[in-house]
Amino acid sequence: MDRAPDPFADRVAGLRATFASGRTRPIEWRRHQLDGIARMMVEQEAALAAALAEDLHKPLQEAWIAELSFIQGEAAYASKHVGRWAAPRRVRTPLVGQPGRSRLVPEPLGVALVIGAWNYPIQGTLGPLVGALAAGCCAVVKPSEVSAATSHALARLLPQYVDPDAVAVIEGGIDETTALLGQHFDAILYTGNGTVGRIVMAAAAKHLTPVTLELGGKSPCIVTRQADLDAAARRIAWGKWMNAGQTCIAPDYLLVEKGLGSTMVERLRAQVKRMYGDDPKRSPDYARIVNERHLRRVARYLETGRVAFGGEVDAADRYVAPTVLVDVPPDAPVMTEEIFGPVLPIVEVADLDEAIRWIVGRDTPLVLYVFGSSAEAESVVARTSAGQVCVNDTMMFMAVPELPFGGVGASGTGAYTGSHGFRTFSHLKPVMHRGTMLDLDARYPPYTAAKLGLLRRLR
Ligand code: NAD
Repeated sequence: MDRAPDPFADRVAGLRATFASGRTRPIEWRRHQLDGIARMMVEQEAALAAALAEDLHKPLQEAWIAELSFIQGEAAYASKHVGRWAAPRRVRTPLVGQPGRSRLVPEPLGVALVIGAWNYPIQGTLGPLVGALAAGCCAVVKPSEVSAATSHALARLLPQYVDPDAVAVIEGGIDETTALLGQHFDAILYTGNGTVGRIVMAAAAKHLTPVTLELGGKSPCIVTRQADLDAAARRIAWGKWMNAGQTCIAPDYLLVEKGLGSTMVERLRAQVKRMYGDDPKRSPDYARIVNERHLRRVARYLETGRVAFGGEVDAADRYVAPTVLVDVPPDAPVMTEEIFGPVLPIVEVADLDEAIRWIVGRDTPLVLYVFGSSAEAESVVARTSAGQVCVNDTMMFMAVPELPFGGVGASGTGAYTGSHGFRTFSHLKPVMHRGTMLDLDARYPPYTAAKLGLLRRLR
């Protein structure tokens, strides 16, 4: 029986031909692409913000901070530094290798596949693309079909700003992504949930393709008595309710020291009022749940604890109010699944030690937040594992390009942003260059005790 032709074979073959031509290797070509992406974020701000508003009711300021300006900054930073990143680096050659020179020569991996998620549909596709282009790769970008308006906008606009023979935007859902994953890529970066992450990794194994997985999970947030509680409430509220909680790095739940639960409820309530007014539904600054399926999923969490404030759901408007839950059993779904919505459970623990034991006994978080003293924060850093730790704030570590963004264990593998994105899509090729003036006879057969003795002394 004839197999159906692969719909993307020609597109990927076209990218491979571009890569093989060597056109993507010169630094000037890379800078040109990166500058194009930075320019697109400025020139197309209105179109991209409109698409994000259509998909997620994303307020312009959130679109600007976390997507447009973020990508503009990433692309400009990469454009500025790519010459240095791509330059060969000398490493020391020991005595036995003399005369000789050794260096690391970064080379692009080839043709990359970037699969994005729907919650930050520009950041999660173009951020990795910046790394791929800085490395000198070609790439297929597959935005999420769930944020359809942004996916269409990227497909329409990106070819106007980057070399269309080197970057292809392919739109589609499970069928298209499955077909793409059948192709041979040289690097895959996937952002999304762990179930699909496993599918991606299995598909990549067939071609021995290296994979970066940017996954999610629960990011706990510890609050101790030593924290500045007003600052904590304000920053937690911002990090939790931005994009209506649909942020992989949002604080998922609070672990507060005994007695702080009701204080945090009141302070968070005050912050919600300050940020979104008496009725957040009428605030232009509060996003919506991406679709009905996710709305039903998030709404179910409201039944698993006591609503301290919020709790309103309007399915027709895809609205779920900023909500705090208390009295939540540790085995309830809201405490075992990633919430990915505007519901914030607060759990009281006896002290910092119990909070640390709680975290160590669960999946490794993408982000671990700590509001407390420096000594407490250092104790958490030393005794736990996490993709990243942020002390006394939420999400702001994303503003530091040289802090690689990525998970560990269940929250992902590999990282990008800044030079780390360049590294993710590069191979650091070791090159050793030997001189022929001297040739130590001791390494060649016939082996003798004297030769071995000399080698031992030279080590
Ligand atoms: P999603 O539904 O948009 O899926 C992600 C991508 O996987 C999409 O491009 C989609 O087309 C593709 N996909 C879906 N099912 C597939 C299948 N069966 N086979 C092949 N491809 C398939 O997004 P999602 O998974 O709902 O995203 C939410 C998750 O992503 C959360 O866990 C969140 O924490 C995580 N996330 C992580 C980061 C990060 O950078 N670490 C960023 C954003 C989101």
